[in-house]
Amino acid sequence: MKKSNNRLSPLTLAVHAGSVGDPLFGGLVNPIYQSSAYNYDQLVRYPRYFNTPNQEAVVKKVAALEDAETGLVFSSGMATILTSIFAMVKAGDHIIFQNDLYGGVHSLALHELNRYGIAYTMVDAADPRNFEKAIRKETKVIYIETPSNPLLKITDIEAVGKIAKRHGLISMIDNTFASPVNQNPIGLGIDVVLHSGTKYIGGHSDICCGVMVSSKKLTALVQASASHFGGSLDANTCYLVERSLKTIVLRVRQQNQNAMALAEFLEAEPKIGAVYYPGLKKHAGHAIAKKQMTGGLGGMMSFEIKSDPEKFIKRLKFIRKAVSLGGVESTICSPCKTSHVKLSAAERKKVGISDQLLRLSVGIEEVNDLIADIQQALPIETR
Ligand SMILES: *Cc1c(COP(=O)(O)O)cnc(C)c1O
Repeated sequence: MKKSNNRLSPLTLAVHAGSVGDPLFGGLVNPIYQSSAYNYDQLVRYPRYFNTPNQEAVVKKVAALEDAETGLVFSSGMATILTSIFAMVKAGDHIIFQNDLYGGVHSLALHELNRYGIAYTMVDAADPRNFEKAIRKETKVIYIETPSNPLLKITDIEAVGKIAKRHGLISMIDNTFASPVNQNPIGLGIDVVLHSGTKYIGGHSDICCGVMVSSKKLTALVQASASHFGGSLDANTCYLVERSLKTIVLRVRQQNQNAMALAEFLEAEPKIGAVYYPGLKKHAGHAIAKKQMTGGLGGMMSFEIKSDPEKFIKRLKFIRKAVSLGGVESTICSPCKTSHVKLSAAERKKVGISDQLLRLSVGIEEVNDLIADIQQALPIETR
C-alpha cells in the first residue's frame, strides 16, 4: 500500500525520517538502545520481536524512502527474503519466480523449497504475460527482481503487479540493485519490497543486513514468522545502518551519474564489447527502466572485455576486485568466477553470461578517475 501522494523529498526523508533524538540530554541523533529486556507495561519489546527502538529507526527511514507503511530489518538480505516468502506460503502452495534471480535466491528455491512441499515455476520475465500463464490454483506468490544480476535485465513492475492483483496473489520484488532511491515498487502496485541492506543501504561495504517494507497487514504476517525464525539485527549494527541511510540519496545519485558516464565511455571504447546498462538507449529494457526507475538508472552495469578479463582486473589501480556491490568504492567481479561459477560454461552461455563478462559496481569517486583507471588497464595495441 502506497503511503502518501505528497511526500517530502528523499533527501529530507533520508536525514529526518525515524529521528527522535535524545530527549534526556537533547542530543540530535538517536541513542543506541542496547537493552534486550524491556518493561512490558505498554508494549512487549524484544530484539527477536523486531520492535526495538534502533530496529524501528532503520525501518522508518527505509519505509519513508520506499513510500511504504512499515517494514522490518533483518540480519541479512537472505534472512529477509526467506522469512518474507515463508510467511506467505505453506506446504502445497506454488510460487512463480522470474528466472533471472540473485544466485542465493535461485539456490534457495533449488535446494529448500521442494523439501518443504512448496512448488515453484521460473519464467522469462521479458514478457510479463509469462507470469500469468504460469499461474495455478495453488499459486500464492509472484517474485521478481529488477534490474537483474548480472545483465541488468528489466522486468515491467507495474504489469506484474497488475497480474498479481487480478489473481489475488502476493507480489514481491528484490529491489536491491535499484536501491530505495531509484525505484519504489509499492507505488507501482507491488505488495512486498525486499532489500539486501548489505549493498546500497549499508553502502560502505561493512554491514550485513536486510530490510523488507510493505503494508502494516502484510508486515505483521512477516513479523509473526520472523519471531520464530530469528534473524534479527542487533542495536549497534542498526545504528550503523541508520547512519548510512542519512547519506544514501547523495551516494546513489552520484553513483547513477558516474555509471551513466562510464557506460557511455565503455560503449564507445573499441576494446570493450557489449555494455549492459539500463541507461543506454540500446539496452532492451531502457524504456521500461526510464518509466519505473524514477530516481535514476542505477550504479550497476556489466560489459564484455575483448582481452583477458583477469589481466585487466589485475591492472586496475583502485577499482577493487570484489564480490558484493553498492559500496562507496567501485568494485569489479567476474560473474563466471563468482555468482555463476556453479553453472557449466554451456549453461552460462545459454543465459548470456560469457567468460568475458565483467560486472561493475560504480562507486562515488570522481568519474574521470574511474575512466582513467579503466583506460590504463586496457591492453596497449601491439603491431
Ligand atoms: C546480496 C543480495 C542478496 C542477498 O543479501 P545478503 O545480505 O547477502 O543476504 C539478495 N538479492 C540481491 C539482488 C543481492 O545482491
